[in-house]
Amino acid sequence: MMSEVMKSIKICAFCPNTCRSSFGASETLQIESQTPSALSLICLAVHQGNLEWDQETRNVLMRRDAVKSSVGKCTYGLNMTKILDDAVLSLSLR
Ligand code: SF4
Repeated sequence: MMSEVMKSIKICAFCPNTCRSSFGASETLQIESQTPSALSLICLAVHQGNLEWDQETRNVLMRRDAVKSSVGKCTYGLNMTKILDDAVLSLSLR
C-alpha cells in the first residue's frame, strides 16, 4: 500500500497546485504551507528521512482545509484527504 500511496504523494508534491482555483484568492486557504502539494512534500521528506516524524510534523499534516477544498478539483483525480490519511498512517506504522 505504501508504494501506491507514495506514488500519489509524489505526483501531488511536484504538481504546481493546479487545484488552486478551487479556493478563492482571498481565503486563508491560500497559505502556501497548507496546500495539498506542500503537505505532500512534507510526507515525502519524512519518507526519505529528511524530516523528523515528530508531533510538530504530524500537527502540520492535520491542517487540511485547503486539502479538503481540492477534493474533486484535482487535475490527476486524486483524493488528497484520503491519500494523506493513508500516508500519515503508513509513516506512523514504519
Ligand atoms: S491535489 Fe491534485 S491538483 Fe492539487 S496540488 Fe495535488 S496533485 Fe496537484
